[in-house]
Amino acid sequence: MDTEHGSAIAGTAEKAAPTRVPAPAPPRVFLETYGCQMNVADSELVTGILRRGGYEATGDPADADVILLNTCAIREHAEERVLGRLSDLLRHKHERPSVQLGLLGCMATHQRERLLDRAPYLDVIVGPDGYRDLPALLANGVDPQIEVRLDRGETYADLEPDLGPGPRAWLSIMRGCDKFCTFCIVPFTRGRERSLPPDAVVQHVEAAVAAGKREVVLLGQTVNAYRADGVDFGELLRRIARVDGLERIRFTSPHPSDVTPSMIAAMAEEPKVMPYLHLPLQSASDPVLERMQRGYTIDDYRHLVAELRRRIPDLAVSTDIIVGFPGESDDDFAATARWLDEARYDFAYLFKYSAREGTKAYRLDETVSEDEKGRRLKRLIDRQEEISLERNRAWLGREVEVLVEGPAKRPPGHAVGKARTWKTTIFPAAEVEAGATVRVRVESATAHTLAGRPA
Ligand code: SAM
Ligand code: SF4
Repeated sequence: MDTEHGSAIAGTAEKAAPTRVPAPAPPRVFLETYGCQMNVADSELVTGILRRGGYEATGDPADADVILLNTCAIREHAEERVLGRLSDLLRHKHERPSVQLGLLGCMATHQRERLLDRAPYLDVIVGPDGYRDLPALLANGVDPQIEVRLDRGETYADLEPDLGPGPRAWLSIMRGCDKFCTFCIVPFTRGRERSLPPDAVVQHVEAAVAAGKREVVLLGQTVNAYRADGVDFGELLRRIARVDGLERIRFTSPHPSDVTPSMIAAMAEEPKVMPYLHLPLQSASDPVLERMQRGYTIDDYRHLVAELRRRIPDLAVSTDIIVGFPGESDDDFAATARWLDEARYDFAYLFKYSAREGTKAYRLDETVSEDEKGRRLKRLIDRQEEISLERNRAWLGREVEVLVEGPAKRPPGHAVGKARTWKTTIFPAAEVEAGATVRVRVESATAHTLAGRPA
């Protein structure tokens, strides 16, 4: 239908002015994201796919024709939150029955059989490799539409995501995971490991810079396992560093077993690669690491961190740790607690083990009670808070270079951004220019934030 140019209505008086038929408003999509940064990047991809498919984004579910949740399956709690949110959003469908409700992401693949029992009102269920088909699935009136097959070849390399606001772009450079750690659902929900071609990665980075981004964060479940067309992760970092206008390169999450001399050299030698590394450990006890099938010992990990710190001045390091994995004894836990004092991470994400159906560890008997997991978790959190504070205080009196993100929530009249080490930094600013780089002298620190004045 030619709505753009209007159409004259036949049978009226001669020379009637052409009547403009208003174009129908594009259908609106509300998309909410749960889980890791890869999901955030996937949501930007989905937003791009739907925009090109004729949809328009809205931030209000009451205003939406399509309501989508991009979900996480990593822990049971994450899935419960989504199910709770779904039943809450269901009222929009009750009020306006034409509303389509959809579930995307890792829960779609993990819960594929059960989802329609638990949420029979879902119109679409689409896993991480099915996003290309979303416009067609939504257009196909017969419900429910389910696309949860995993596709070893799907990288979405040819599709530009709709990047979010701010000076930082999150870009997936590889998808899936081949590590099969025994506790982890990711290889089952996201499928096998595959990398985008390096030329496509560089094009995405160039497009991000052209759109005003100053920093890219390269994403992958084992991001440093990247390999495509003979290019490894270290070489990819160097290629990206050559993109004009790009100031900072980060990545997450690298796997300790995939840290190579090429990667360390690129981090040490390329000034655009930031001195920050999130290096998930999971446990400092060798028997636990072995049962998790992590592929390294605590000694391997210790040497790796020492080498990285030796080569990269002021390197900040963070980690992920799980407490209460099946069979974790008091001694195993004590080893992890001691390790925090030795490693002196800048911060850590600490989790209680959550059994995930389909994983190897699901078949192991849980030996640590929920209460005991809670006590172990609290002990690590309390100690890590002290260490994080000490690590941040070590920056007092020094200057940090901050990439400004925008006004700080608190206090008024301040700007917030990240230092090169990924430390959140606030400083007073009359005018806040997102994307500017400001040198700040650090005057105070908490466990989570540095504060100071422009130097
Ligand atoms: N691929 C990354 C790696 O292995 O280095 C981590 C990805 S995963 C989304 C993030 C973190 O969630 C893991 O490092 C782990 O600490 C935690 N995690 C994964 N499965 C878990 C489970 N079943 N229970 C508790 N925490 C879990
Ligand atoms: Fe999960 Fe292990 Fe793969 Fe990380 S490396 S995504 S923890 S299986």
